[in-house]
Parts: sequence; C-alpha cells; structure tokens
Amino acid sequence: MAYMYQIDFERCKGCGLCVDVCPKNVLELTKEVNAKGYFPAYQARPQDCVFCTTCCIMCPDVAISITKTSEEGKNAGGAEDNDG
Ligand code: SF4
Ligand code: SF4
Repeated sequence: MAYMYQIDFERCKGCGLCVDVCPKNVLELTKEVNAKGYFPAYQARPQDCVFCTTCCIMCPDVAISITKTSEEGKNAGGAEDNDG
C-alpha cells in the first residue's frame, strides 16, 4: 500500500504545529510565502514519513491530506484550472 501526502500550499497558515508534532521530524516551514503571506509547511524529509497522520489531525486548517493509493487502481489526477 502506498500513500500520497499533500500539504495545501495556499491553505496552510504556517503555524508550525505539524512541524512540532511530527515524531519523525519530517516537516519544516518553507522560505517561500503563499498568497496569504504565510510560510507553509512542507515535507523536508519525505523519506522519513511513516504516514502516522498525526500532522493531519493536528492541523487546525485541515491543510494536510494523506490518501491511500493502491497500485492496481491508478488514479488519474485531474488538473484544476481556476481563473481568479
Ligand atoms: S504523517 Fe506522521 S511522520 Fe508523516 S509528516 Fe505527518 S506526523 Fe510526520
Ligand atoms: S499545522 Fe496546518 S496550518 Fe499549521 S503549518 Fe502545519 S499544515 Fe500549515
């Protein structure tokens, strides 16, 4: 079973809670600002992630998603294009 880990760059407030709770020290804040003026979290060491979901549960803004991806059923990712 494989997992897909995603942090919504624009949704994240850069509060750093997920960075603090991660037992594997996977997460850090970027040095790049998002549209709201925050520095979002990202997986600096993705290879260390054990997909425990602690960061997901902790995030007050529900910016982190962990999705199971099976190797048989491949999901075609839909690209969204929103103007404005
Ligand atoms: S799922 Fe667990 S190990 Fe992975 S980044 Fe989140 S808290 Fe860290
Ligand atoms: S807990 Fe959520 S809002 Fe806070 S830094 Fe992590 S992903 Fe961003």
